[in-house]
Amino acid sequence: MNTKLVKVDIENPDMNILGEAAEILRNGGLVAFPTETVYGLGANGLDEQACKKIYEAKGRPSDNPLILTIGDISGLYPIVSRVTPNAEKIINAFWPGPITLVLPKAECVPMTVTGGLDTVAVRFPSNKIARELIKAAGIPVAAPSANSSGKPSPTRASHVEFDLNGKIDMIIDGGAADWGLESTILDVSEDRPVLLRPGAVTQEMIEEVVGKIDVDPAVFSKPSGDIVPKAPGMKYKHYSPSARVILVTGPGENVIKTINEKAKEDAQNGLKVGIMATEQTKDSYNCSSVLVVGDRNRPETIGANLFKILRKFDFIGVDVVYSEVFDEDGEGAAIMNRLNKAAGFNYIKC
Ligand code: AMP
Ligand code: MG
Repeated sequence: MNTKLVKVDIENPDMNILGEAAEILRNGGLVAFPTETVYGLGANGLDEQACKKIYEAKGRPSDNPLILTIGDISGLYPIVSRVTPNAEKIINAFWPGPITLVLPKAECVPMTVTGGLDTVAVRFPSNKIARELIKAAGIPVAAPSANSSGKPSPTRASHVEFDLNGKIDMIIDGGAADWGLESTILDVSEDRPVLLRPGAVTQEMIEEVVGKIDVDPAVFSKPSGDIVPKAPGMKYKHYSPSARVILVTGPGENVIKTINEKAKEDAQNGLKVGIMATEQTKDSYNCSSVLVVGDRNRPETIGANLFKILRKFDFIGVDVVYSEVFDEDGEGAAIMNRLNKAAGFNYIKC
């Protein structure tokens, strides 16, 4: 298949191009498009055959459900059987934006979308290209991240091209995704909300709106093989570069000393080593592949760059990556959740 790559200006999207993309979606094809979190891989969310193509293109396990995106709040009601009171509060506070809600599904939503569950995950993105495209399509658009399953999510059109060129109909290049990590997922299908995946809308922000929520244990700990997680995607290896990622934690100077020692030892053993550093620490490492993920004082820079840097380590072809860790407060929860998964919870404490 020939994948068409088109550039669209986020400030002033060309409606002719978005019209063409919408037509592809309505006809059962696949279109990757930018959102404020990461790039999504869109298909007609009510068309089982189209959704199957998403699983094929990504190499995604079929019990890992998709998120349905809507371009307008009115798109929610036909695809859920009930909007709970907590869902309404969250919608009023944060939609459109980077939070996905899990609700009881309506009859019309195929089981291919929900991975066999009787709930459906729905998001109303704020990115202008995404909204206009979904509105033009006039259907709910199933849109998981537009990467090969297991790889870091794409935050640039070039990442999508690298993973999916030749496997999908179109890629809309709308520049870098602002936030850079996938949406927060909150299950509001029952009385007490459960956080299934941390993201830009933090636990603290959610609790200000609906009071205390539960956090799925898989968010911060290594999932055991036999768990049946509420968010089925949690049981799969995620966000990983090909290199082995090792997180190093301890007092600042110890971390730098340990990483330098390990890097030297590995290099002597013939391994190609990468180090994920911050603006604050980049000059303290002796290694040829030191990449800066962001500024510790501005965690949003780390969120925005994390997947890009993990992909860059793959591109350079390192065997092992040593990384510093970050505070788990606020938006740090999302960063550490992804980093822990990329590393398979592999830690050195020093
Ligand atoms: P992605 O679109 O790649 O960010 O992945 C979507 C994720 O949403 C899945 O991996 C699941 O963890 C989660 N998800 C989607 N639908 C549901 C659902 N009905 N219940 C719980 N989690 C869901
Ligand atoms: Mg994904």
